[in-house]
Amino acid sequence: LLLAYDPARRLARLNVNLSNNLVGVRLMYEVLDRAVGETETAGSAPLAVPEGRVTFEDVRFHYGETPALDGLSFEARPGEITALVGPSGAGKSTVFGLLERFYTPNAGAIRIDGQDIRAADTASVRAALAFVSQDTFLFNTTVRENIAMGRPGADEAAIRQAAIEANAHEFIMGLDQGYDSEVGEGGGRLSGGQRQRIAIARALLRDAPILLLDEATSALDSESEAKVQAALANLMRGRTTLVIAHRLATVREAAQIVVMDRGRVVERGSHGELHARDGLYRRLCDLQFNGSGAAS
Ligand code: ATP
Repeated sequence: LLLAYDPARRLARLNVNLSNNLVGVRLMYEVLDRAVGETETAGSAPLAVPEGRVTFEDVRFHYGETPALDGLSFEARPGEITALVGPSGAGKSTVFGLLERFYTPNAGAIRIDGQDIRAADTASVRAALAFVSQDTFLFNTTVRENIAMGRPGADEAAIRQAAIEANAHEFIMGLDQGYDSEVGEGGGRLSGGQRQRIAIARALLRDAPILLLDEATSALDSESEAKVQAALANLMRGRTTLVIAHRLATVREAAQIVVMDRGRVVERGSHGELHARDGLYRRLCDLQFNGSGAAS
C-alpha cells in the first residue's frame, strides 16, 4: 500500500510545493496521520458525535502577533448548510483550521455536540470531519488509491459506490485503465472538475458527520460545474456542512449565512434576510458572488 512507508519518507516522496500555509499543514496531517506540534491533552477521551452540531463560543485566536478571530460565536446545526462569507482576511479559513485542531484557540471554546474539542482526542475530532476544496490534494497514484484514502482498507464495492455518488464512476470507466488509471502529479492527468469529483468520492467514503467545504473560486465549464454540484449535493445530505462560499447558488441555499469581518460575526441570517438589509452582506453580494446583485 502506498502509505506503508515511514512518515518522513512519505512526505519527501510527495515533492510538492506547499505554497499555501494551511494546505501544507493539512497535507502534513493527512500524510503523517498524527499531530504535529500539537500536544495531546493527557487522558483525552474520544469525541462522541451523535449529531454533529458545531458551536463556536467567543473564540479568540491570533497567529503570533496577527489577530485572526476576535470573539467569534455561531452555531452550525446538523443537516444544515452554514455558509461563511466575508472579505479576505475575515478569518474564514481560520475557522476550519481551528476545528481541525491545526491550531488551538487562545480563548473561548469550540464544541462538537457539546464537547470542547480541546479536551477530546485529536484523532477522533479529525475523524468527525471531512474537508473538500478545489485543491484537495491528489496523490500521484491511481484513481482507486486516491479515493480509498478516505477510508483506508475500504473494499472495492464501497469505493465504487462512493465514485457513483460523486458522479465520477462514469468518467473513471472511460479512462484507459479505469480505477487503475494513474492521476498524474497533483492529479494533472484529470480535468479540474474530475479532480474535484475524486475528492468528493474520497469524502463520501470517509462518511464523516461534519463537512468542511472551501468552495471553488475558479470557474468550471457549465457541464462540469453541474456534475460537481450534483456530487456535492449527495455529499452534503444528512451532514453538518460549513462552507466558505463563493457561489451565489450556495448562499441562497444555505440555512444560515454567517457574515464575518475582522474575526467577528457582523451579520447572520438567510440570503433573503441579509440581502434586504443595506449591510456588508449586500455589498459582498454585489462584489463577490457570480450572478452578483441578483434579487433576493
Ligand atoms: P481569504 O478569503 O483571503 O482566504 P479568510 O477569511 O479565510 O481570508 P484567514 O485566512 O482565516 O481569512 O486569515 C485571517 C487573518 O489571519 C488574516 O489577517 C491573515 O493574514 C492571518 N493569517 C492566516 N493564516 C495565517 C498564518 N498561517 N500565519 C500568520 N497569519 C495568518
